[in-house]
Amino acid sequence: MSYKPLVFKYRPECFNDLIGQDHIVSAFTNAFYLNKIHHAYIFSGSYGIGKTTIARLFAKSLNCINNINICNVCNTCVEIQNNCFVDLIEIDAASSSGVDNIKELIENAQYFPVKGKFKIYLIDEVHMLSRSSFNALLKILEEPPLHIKFLLATTEYNKIPKVITSRCLHFHLLKVDIDKITSYLKNILTKEQILFDEQAINYIANTANGSLRDALNLTDQAIVFGNGKITKNIVITMLGIIDISQIILIIELIISNNTNQLMNTINSISTNNINWEQFLIDILLVLHDILLIKTLSNYNFNYNKNILPRLKSISKSLSISIIEKYIDLILSGYQELLIVNNKKLIIEIILLKLINY
Ligand SMILES: [Zn+2]
Repeated sequence: MSYKPLVFKYRPECFNDLIGQDHIVSAFTNAFYLNKIHHAYIFSGSYGIGKTTIARLFAKSLNCINNINICNVCNTCVEIQNNCFVDLIEIDAASSSGVDNIKELIENAQYFPVKGKFKIYLIDEVHMLSRSSFNALLKILEEPPLHIKFLLATTEYNKIPKVITSRCLHFHLLKVDIDKITSYLKNILTKEQILFDEQAINYIANTANGSLRDALNLTDQAIVFGNGKITKNIVITMLGIIDISQIILIIELIISNNTNQLMNTINSISTNNINWEQFLIDILLVLHDILLIKTLSNYNFNYNKNILPRLKSISKSLSISIIEKYIDLILSGYQELLIVNNKKLIIEIILLKLINY
């Protein structure tokens, strides 16, 4: 049996399948219900957040032969889902052929759709279009033929000329929050009958940074790494991250002035393929939580029972001003880390600054 990546297998088939974009689901559901469909939309948001997925759902809603928005059974719905519908024309403005495609688009716009009720142009990374392409696009947006709809997707909304944005409805897609990604992944893994550690899934959800596509790809990768089972250790190695208890250990060693063991710990974790930027962010996250423990009495922390007492103990031994100083030192060190090749060296310098403060 051929293997189908999770990201394709679980691609949303209708608006209700979308995770974390409720504002868009209700806007589109209402628009279709009231039959008030605009001729041009802009979807902005970061990579892997579902812009083209929404465009395909929109195309289905407009063109479904059974007229019930999305039936997922008719030829049109099936073809759009399989990415081979002739009247959904995708143009990648980031590619060199983008400009030629826009010219062709303008020339062909007058022709009626081949199969569907509407011809839908999806222009990805639309902010990359040249000035002349934007002018050509503007011309058609000013007097759009009734059989045409435009879906413009972008990661940089502010780079699109005002004359274009003012003729479109704009939706900003939100990064999906970690809890939603976590429960989504757990749900899928349960369906797929794949065993997993809770913590492993938390790490994946965290690394995905709001993108369900990234989360699913990382999950696929973890399944292969772990030979069909997703464990915490597999994910830690795969992502180059460090377990929370090690991060806390590093802070404990800084507080107890134990330079020897601190350097030994850094040496031992550096034998793994560590993502040092993430390492520093993880220390920041823990310091942030220690600060919260110190200032809020009943904050609901998502730590297990072995971890929380250690954080509480650290919070008792550090003053707020010292924690804030640690955070400042890490933030300024982080900038250097981004531009230097020998990242371990910078990490050691930052931690030595903390221990000597
Ligand atoms: Zn259909």
